[in-house]
Amino acid sequence: EEKVPSDIEVAMAQTPKPITQLAHEIGVLPNELESYGPHKAKVDLNVLERLKHRKDGKYILISGITPTPLGEGKSTTTIGLAQALGAHMGRLTFANVRQPSQGPTFGIKGGAAGGGYSQVIPMDEFNLHLTGDIHAVTAANNLVAAALDARMFHEGTQSDKALYSRLVPTKKGKREFAPLMFKRLKKLGIDKTDPNELTLDEINRFARLDVDPETITWNRVIDTNDRFLRQITVGQAPTEKGFERVTGFDIAVASECMAVLALTTDLQDMRERLGAMVVATSKRGEPITCDDLGVGGALAVLMKDAIKPNLMQTLEGTPVFVHAGPFANIAHGNSSILADKVALKLAGTEDGDESERIGYVLTEGGFGADMGMEKFCNIKCRVSNLKPDAVVIVATTRALKMHGGGPEVTPGKPLHDTYTKEDLVTLEEGCKNLNKHIENSRKFGLKVIVAINQFATDTPAELELVRQKSLAGGADAAVVSNHWAKGGAGAVALAQAVIQTCEGSSSFKFLYDLNLPIEKKIEIICKEIYGADGIELSEQAQKQVETYTQQGFDGLPICMAKTQYSFSHDPKLKNVATGFTVPIRSVRLSAGAGFLYPILGDMQTMPGLGTRPGFWEVDLDPTGRVIGLF
Ligand code: ADP
Repeated sequence: EEKVPSDIEVAMAQTPKPITQLAHEIGVLPNELESYGPHKAKVDLNVLERLKHRKDGKYILISGITPTPLGEGKSTTTIGLAQALGAHMGRLTFANVRQPSQGPTFGIKGGAAGGGYSQVIPMDEFNLHLTGDIHAVTAANNLVAAALDARMFHEGTQSDKALYSRLVPTKKGKREFAPLMFKRLKKLGIDKTDPNELTLDEINRFARLDVDPETITWNRVIDTNDRFLRQITVGQAPTEKGFERVTGFDIAVASECMAVLALTTDLQDMRERLGAMVVATSKRGEPITCDDLGVGGALAVLMKDAIKPNLMQTLEGTPVFVHAGPFANIAHGNSSILADKVALKLAGTEDGDESERIGYVLTEGGFGADMGMEKFCNIKCRVSNLKPDAVVIVATTRALKMHGGGPEVTPGKPLHDTYTKEDLVTLEEGCKNLNKHIENSRKFGLKVIVAINQFATDTPAELELVRQKSLAGGADAAVVSNHWAKGGAGAVALAQAVIQTCEGSSSFKFLYDLNLPIEKKIEIICKEIYGADGIELSEQAQKQVETYTQQGFDGLPICMAKTQYSFSHDPKLKNVATGFTVPIRSVRLSAGAGFLYPILGDMQTMPGLGTRPGFWEVDLDPTGRVIGLF
């Protein structure tokens, strides 16, 4: 066996083709392309209108078994399979992945561009700023936070009349409402257009949002694993006159603005969602939205370019859309609906085309299928109205062995023999984890292909055991794939299985009915997908459920915030956990993104850095090239 160089060495050794050439190859017109340097471009959403008559390409979700520190290679498999279908089998195929957060990039995980001979390039640009979408999301989120605190300050320090005359100032001797103020007047049922005609009571209701500080759910965000920002006090300068409050930061990719970017279906829809985001409840019990704060339009302006999917390429020159980056544990974990829609049209067929020419869109649902697939099906597909044709579940023998009872890995120490030598007993036990994910996929009516991501130390008997167990567990196909070492050529068998499995129709269905009470929906996910006995809501969570139900938000789908390392809420319970009750610590509302967001156990919405973060490796070489991103 030849030795595979490090991810960044492989990536740097390949010269990407000009992005304009790739765009031409995939049928994007020059006026639909906005280049960001030679190797990245945004694709204008007008392409959807131009190609709306086309039949969509095949739509495949890539997810995985429950992650372990040994890595499963979902991204690597997504890219490898796209290279196989696109560069070796003549099917126009898009790999749709999320933009990596700089949190994990400099924290624990390193890059997320895939690995070995299956990667997105240029991998340093992919892993770092890309085209600035995460920065736009961060800017939007933090404008809301600034608007909220400033508004509470001004309301708290001014009389009704002073507040009103500053909010609705006189221009050329006439008071004028800002356009967004009419939305608020309408919401309050005040049917007046002349600011001078408001009664004192109306002025008061209009000008005072009367935020109940206890109910604020909006945090500031930053795209860094900065644990010291988990809880902070703002407003400590004397200029803020004692308006201090305790708040915190979340990581940017867990923000609602990011979820909106990932779930929106067009520019107008994004504008509406951003305006509808709820930041708190007023003392009168009404939800306070970004449009109430007057900031909805500005948010849409900040994110108007971010909404366009980013085109990049694989090592073998096939197309990749990188768009949106919600984490899969504390957010919904899927790349954008818009990138998928654009790709499905580009990969689609015209009337009368032979069906052999149909293309494929591989979209990644992060972490294990209990997180990424569940949310893909119940949240993303509900909004998009798209139906997946199949799911690919990625597994490795090493990770399955860890589920089967293999020892923990100690950083810096060589791997235990279990992981590097044949151990069929431990492996067979760990296949239970894979089988539960297969069973769960069936609950959505999905066809299942297991991709066994081959490592150099896997033995033929081990690979065959996983294959047999997968088929016995109900998978439609189970294929060993060697794309990490061989690129697309190593994934041709997997690609053939995908093509075959996707022939014929799919019988996709949702897991729960949106009309069920909030608690019931949470319970269904916990019991059906996680295998829990039941759920237990904290007092706080109970109260939040009541409030959201009263406010009419109970019809939303559920976005669980749960550890990715276990089917349960306890990261230590590997393989298939049983006999547990899931504690629901709190429930948040994402009214603009359109989901309720229960927080399970002690899940954090801001990760931290360990003692030896990945950034120690990262540097520039003497020629100015990035090294140490792996
Ligand atoms: P995931 O998407 O599941 O988090 P990645 O695809 O990012 O996993 O892979 C994690 C790491 O494991 C990468 O550094 C990648 O190079 C490595 N890796 C993946 N598959 C293999 C393989 N078959 N052999 C060796 N290393 C691999």
